[in-house]
Amino acid sequence: MHSSASDGTDPPAEVMRRAALAGLDVVALTDHDTVAGLPEARAAAGPVALLPGMELSCRLEGRSVHMLAYLFDPDQPELAAELARIRDDRVLRARAMVDKLADLGVDISWEQVAAIAGEAVVGRPHIARAMAASGAIASPREAFTRDWIADGGRAYVDRYALDPVRAIGLVRAAGGVAVLAHPRAGRDTWVTDQQITRLAAAGLAGVEVFHPDQSDAERARLLALASDLSLAATGGSDDHGSLTDYRLGSETTPANAYHALIARAASSLCRRTSLVVPLRQELQPGDLFSCRNSGRPRTG
Ligand SMILES: [Zn+2]
Repeated sequence: MHSSASDGTDPPAEVMRRAALAGLDVVALTDHDTVAGLPEARAAAGPVALLPGMELSCRLEGRSVHMLAYLFDPDQPELAAELARIRDDRVLRARAMVDKLADLGVDISWEQVAAIAGEAVVGRPHIARAMAASGAIASPREAFTRDWIADGGRAYVDRYALDPVRAIGLVRAAGGVAVLAHPRAGRDTWVTDQQITRLAAAGLAGVEVFHPDQSDAERARLLALASDLSLAATGGSDDHGSLTDYRLGSETTPANAYHALIARAASSLCRRTSLVVPLRQELQPGDLFSCRNSGRPRTG
């Protein structure tokens, strides 16, 4: 799930409040290329266990690919440096898109977009909101077409993104696990069976099967592939607040997949004793065991 630390519409505390209302036991906050929302989310967690997470922007053979990362140490120097580079480039890219929109007659400024983003990692939804506020489009969602700022659109600008194999390596080196996000949710982020097989060989821990934008047929194909490759088959709502019609809890991760990810991160943790302290701060061991005892952990 996403918060206003990236392109979600709700602050982290509000996201956690909705997670509790949805009856979820475990959630992961996976803002794009930042962990800035985690402290507020942790403080507001209440009865809901919080997995530290992030969604890394990657590119594979010209296509945008999203890599979910869980249970990593965000202060690991190499990972932190890459995150800073990705975020810096997001600003350059957003400015370039605003310039292109101006050429197309859309009257918005970078200052307006920056004001909407506030402290958040700037992204296309912030530009979309500025476009709607200017009257150029009726709602932010209309910005995501080829006419405007969808991938390949008239005002779209590419940005720096990680090779997914490198992303997997960075996350693992920081003690975490990497899960391929929504590989069949749309043409622009499509990942083939062969590509997933190569990522599995590079240390991928799981693949997101249960996602609102993935068809039953693709879920079945991904489940079979995950089983063949020994990947955890995860699920999540990919909630972005009002941008995605408040769907937190609409998809969940099966208990076996959740435990497989925890076990994989824990074995990495054992090899990296320096991570004991930061991980304990994020996720209390009792959270895990209480989930195991209650039988059916569900993550949003
Ligand atoms: Zn994504």
